[in-house]
Amino acid sequence: MAQIKLSNLRHSYSPNPSSDADYALKKIDLTWDDGGAYALLGPSGCGKSTLLNIISGLLVPSEGQILFNDQDVTALPPAKRNIAQVFQFPVIYDTMTVYDNLAFPLRNRGRDEDIVKQRVMAIAEMLEVEDMLTTRAANLSPDNKQKISMGRGLVRQDVNVVMFDEPLTVIDPHLKWKLRSKLKELHLRVKATMIYVTHDQTEALTFADQVVVMQEGEVVQIGTPVELFERPAHTFVGHFIGSPGMNVLPCDVKGGAAFFGGEKVELEGAVQGTGDGAAEIGIRPEFVSISSNGSGVAATVRKVSDIGRHKVVEAVAHDQRVHAILEGEAPNHGDAVKLDFKQTQTRLYKDGWLASTPGGGA
Ligand code: ADP
Ligand code: MG
Repeated sequence: MAQIKLSNLRHSYSPNPSSDADYALKKIDLTWDDGGAYALLGPSGCGKSTLLNIISGLLVPSEGQILFNDQDVTALPPAKRNIAQVFQFPVIYDTMTVYDNLAFPLRNRGRDEDIVKQRVMAIAEMLEVEDMLTTRAANLSPDNKQKISMGRGLVRQDVNVVMFDEPLTVIDPHLKWKLRSKLKELHLRVKATMIYVTHDQTEALTFADQVVVMQEGEVVQIGTPVELFERPAHTFVGHFIGSPGMNVLPCDVKGGAAFFGGEKVELEGAVQGTGDGAAEIGIRPEFVSISSNGSGVAATVRKVSDIGRHKVVEAVAHDQRVHAILEGEAPNHGDAVKLDFKQTQTRLYKDGWLASTPGGGA
């Protein structure tokens, strides 16, 4: 296992990149600690696979270095990096049995057959595929093929890192949930550094201790699931994580206070910097409630969705859509209400970036 460090990394698929837009990865400085369970989360096209392929050596970056335990591996081919990578679609040998497929990465490295057997049986048990060991891979369902593909990634114990690139894409929804929890359990058992790439927030938040959020070739925030929920460093993270995501409302800032449609909104604390970039209030629907004392932001209810444990209210205030998640009673469609924003959870963003600090009134 290893600590993996990406230093001053940039990558362009174009031979003559001229502007930032020509880079699939803009500038990445990132350290993955030994033994960590990481998710790399971001929308399709943001550069996740590019980053993984640079770590594994399938791609050579245009600029920068990759260090495994402080050793520069930038010029090493994949086979010399000692990593395991599981792809979106199964990579297995159709003509071999499941047992031989799982054994392959070990036999390839000249391991003794008794070690091979021990590891294959352990992995087969974890993935619950013991009853398929003698089946030829060609005869497996797509779900099971991908399970075996994942098993091949996990069977060696001496790898620097195990990387999964959207591995559950081809898996049936009900099995997805099961495999997701299984992977978490596997990480606790194997203790290898794992990087799990996904565009699905639920997968990322269930698996990872640390989530790296990417947007358009850049890392916008690294944090625990709780940190990403509570203090999104960028409105993009606020939007992308949460269901519905954070409310982002344009505002004016005067004398350290925020005004939404002319109405003063109390922020969590002081506003950093004096620049007059586009300012927005960020507040999660979980911290918006219907005011019972007549104060708050005037709004009209447009939609109420009952989703079991709570209700999601969509209201419009100063021409902006505001979501509130309410437990218990909710107003009705068409009602005029006042919205209360919990002050300690009301943040200010400038040009998309978090610009308020906690600590009482402004
Ligand atoms: P993700 O895995 O997050 O969906 P990718 O890393 O696959 O994103 O892609 C990042 C960007 O690089 C996208 O704009 C994509 O179109 C581009 N890209 C990916 N692979 C290639 C390639 N082989 N040649 C040219 N452009 C590519
Ligand atoms: Mg991808």
